[in-house]
Parts: sequence; structure tokens; C-alpha cells
Amino acid sequence: MALEEEKKTVFDAEAATSLTKDLRGTFASGKTRSYEWRASQLKNLIKMVNDNEKDIIDALHSDLAKPELEAFISEISMLKSSCIYSLKQLKRWMTPEKVKTSMTTFPSSAEIVSEPLGVVLIISAWNYPFLLSLDPVVGAIAAGNALVLKPSEVAPASSSLLAKLLAKYMDCSAIKVVEGAVVETSALLEQKWDKIFYTGNGKVGRIVMAAAAKHLTPVVLELGGKSPVIVDSDVNLQVASRRIIAGKWGSNNGQACISPDYILTTKDYALQLIDALKHELENFYGKDPLESKDLSRIVNSNHFSRLAKLLDDDKVSKKIVHGGQKDEANLRIAPTIFLDVPEDSLIMNEEIFGPLLPIITVDKVEDCFELINSRTKPLAAYLFTNNKKLKEKFVRNISAGGLLINDTTLHLVVATLPFGGVGESGMGAYHGKFSFDAFSHKKAVMYRSFAGDASARYPPYTPGKLRLL
Ligand code: NAD
Repeated sequence: MALEEEKKTVFDAEAATSLTKDLRGTFASGKTRSYEWRASQLKNLIKMVNDNEKDIIDALHSDLAKPELEAFISEISMLKSSCIYSLKQLKRWMTPEKVKTSMTTFPSSAEIVSEPLGVVLIISAWNYPFLLSLDPVVGAIAAGNALVLKPSEVAPASSSLLAKLLAKYMDCSAIKVVEGAVVETSALLEQKWDKIFYTGNGKVGRIVMAAAAKHLTPVVLELGGKSPVIVDSDVNLQVASRRIIAGKWGSNNGQACISPDYILTTKDYALQLIDALKHELENFYGKDPLESKDLSRIVNSNHFSRLAKLLDDDKVSKKIVHGGQKDEANLRIAPTIFLDVPEDSLIMNEEIFGPLLPIITVDKVEDCFELINSRTKPLAAYLFTNNKKLKEKFVRNISAGGLLINDTTLHLVVATLPFGGVGESGMGAYHGKFSFDAFSHKKAVMYRSFAGDASARYPPYTPGKLRLL
């Protein structure tokens, strides 16, 4: 009996087919298209978060020991802002956009109508398990779709809370959560979707894209990469150091897709920068950062081992200039800075996604551009400088998902900016109106009357008609 029950709960291809069939039925009924449905679901989402703040913070603590303030700012508050912004803009976004027509079609009028794509799949990652799951959901709802959310199994407390809360607060005939790992995600990926929105690493991104290709399903891939920070000597060093620390260790202890991955600075400036970083790190996290309650822990033992391998690599361990302590039992690694690790070391060839920060020195600050451009395109790139010419060169020469000058990670909170990668860091973008657009089809609609029926377009195609053109 117990075995039978267990069998029933397995989410397999059959379950996935039945789930998508139900959602297709809901979408076909037209209920998700109305402004009222979309607005009510966004309001429900806000209520859900307001009513359950403590449970969300507890789940994030259980999964990542995420500090409460960080959890509140980067998950709860950002999600609520996204919902509130979408609610405010929704009517405007849904209104067809009138566009000019051409002389050839005179008299005519035209508009672009945003229509929902249909039934969409959102596969999310573990590092910001609430925000990364629900922010795309906001876009999918705003655009009028039915959807399945598959949260990450790597953050199990958040995943199960998401499943419980969405079932309680949202319209379950159109919004479903499937929990699980590879087996469940693979069953979902076999289905035909109208869009797949995936957040995670590029290896799985390729699996998602290959599955989507079978059905010609469009994808948004929110991937990662090695996001560089250039530090020029013409800076306010204290502010620059604090902002680098906030983006690295203050963002889930480096487990964020746009965390600074490595720093580039000049040989002459490196030691000053290291001193300033050390000083501020001690101010923020004390003398024993492994004990600090203001640093998230590493998510699990697999990721701990991955990071320990980077840290203990012979090529780089002798290059540590700060930190290096780790505590496997509690999955904690101290903020660690390296100076001039070899370019062919593991740490410089995979995304770090944790509290390790190599600094690479160059002769002239302009040399940084070549170094960044010799690598795959990152999700973010940062520059600290007061030098106007350097800023212009940076914007002109560096291709990345997003650029931010004199800070780190904050471009993420600006709803009017698209958030997404380029090249290996991903494709497509979301946030604000970009989320609505990511889950909408822009339908071209033209209107004509029966007037202006020029005979020149119809056969017989006489030479006289050709001369008219
Ligand atoms: P993860 O392990 O949670 O995986 C992401 C999702 O893929 C999960 O839902 C998981 O169940 C699913 N998955 C894993 N293996 C699969 C398989 N073989 N087939 C089908 N589905 C599978 O997250 P992760 O990949 O460790 O996340 C970290 C990466 O994500 C980093 O590269 C980071 O930069 C990137 N990231 C990007 C963003 C962004 O917004 N661009 C945000 C967060 C993380």
C-alpha cells in the first residue's frame, strides 16, 4: 500500500501530459486573458508574500542560512516591487500600440497587439529561490499565460513552501508547481510548451534548448558566467571596496549570478585595493567570518566540494592574500582573495559562484578590455572609475548582459532595464515590461476599409502600370 502510494506521487511523462492538458484547457477557456484575472493573480501574489514573510525568511535560512535582512531585501521586497510595478503598468502594457502605416497601404491603420503565448514552463535555480521562481511568474501572469513553475530541488525548503503557498493563494487551474529534480524536469521538458524560461547553468541550458527545439518552442535562458570588475586608481577606494563586498559576499556569499567573479586592476594599485577590501571585510564580518551571521552558507556539500577544489588547487592556494578558512561541517567558506592566480587555473576558467575572489593585475587599465573580450561574454561587467573617457571606452568595448559603473549588482533592481545575458551568459531578458514582452507574442494587426482599391496592383500587369510605380 505504501509503495503504491509512493508510486502515485512520482511525476512522470504521463503526469506531465495530463498536467499540460489541464492547463491547455484552462488557457483555451480564455480566463487568463482578461485584465481582471491577471490583476487578481498579481494581487494574490502580493498577499501571499505579505502573509508569509516569516515562513519565507525561515525557508531561506534553512536552505542557505541567508541573513534575514538580505532575504528581505533581495527576495521579498524585490518580488513585491516587481508585482506592484506590473500591476500599475498592466493596463498600459495590455493596450494595443498604434503604429504608422505606409503610403502603399493607404488608407489603413495598424497596431501591435500583445497576446499571451499560451502555456509556459518556468524552471528556476536555487540561489534566490523565491525571487528567481516568482519574478518570471509575475511576467507570465501579467502577459495572460497559464504556467508551470519548477523550483530548484537544491533549495528544498523554499521549493516546498512555494508549492504549498501557490496552491493556496493562486488560481490552481492555471498556475501549477511541480517539485523535483532531473527526472521531473525531464518529464516536463518532453511536453510541448509555448515558452520555456530557464534560470541556471549553461550545461543544463543546452539540455533545455535541445528539448525546446523538438517543438520549436522559444526559450529565455538566464545563465551565468564570470562577471569581471575593473578597478581603476581614480576612485573613492572606500566606497568602491564596500560596493564590491556588497555585490560579492553581501549577495548570498558570492552565490549570485551577477556577483563579481574576478577583479582586474593595475599592478601599481592592487595592494591598496587589497588593503581596503581587507579592512572593510573585517568591519562587516569581524575577525572570524566563519562565525558571522551576516554571510550565507554554501548551499550544499556538492557545491562546498566544488568550491574547496577551486580553493585548494595548488596553482592558486599559494596566491591567497586574505581568508582561505573553511568549515566543511557547517558548509562555510570565509571571504577569500587571491592575487595573480595563473590564467589557466581552474578558478579562472569556471564560474566561481561562491566567496572566492581572484584579483588579476595588468600594466595599464586599458589592458583589461582585451582580457575580458578574450573570454566568453559575461552576464555583468563592472567598472570603478571617475575617468569619463574610461567609462566611454568600457561601454563601447565591453559586451555583457549588463554593465554597471561605480557599483555592483544594483542594475538588477531597475525595472526599466532588461535583465538577461548575451552569448554564453544567456538569451532573452526580463524584468518590468521586458518580462511582459518575454511571455507575449507581438501580433501585427492591420485594418483597411474597402476604399482606395488601386487597380495598379491587379493583373493584367500592363507596361503602363509598371510606369506608375
Ligand atoms: P540548479 O542546480 O538549481 O539548476 C537549475 C534548474 O535546472 C533546477 O530547477 C534543476 O532542477 C534543473 N536541472 C538540473 N539538472 C537538470 C537536467 N539534467 N535536466 C533538466 N533540468 C535540470 O541551479 P544551478 O545551475 O546550479 O544555478 C547556478 C547557475 O545559474 C550559475 O551559472 C548562475 O550564474 C546561473 N544563474 C543565473 C541567473 C540569471 O538570472 N541569469 C540567476 C541565478 C543563477
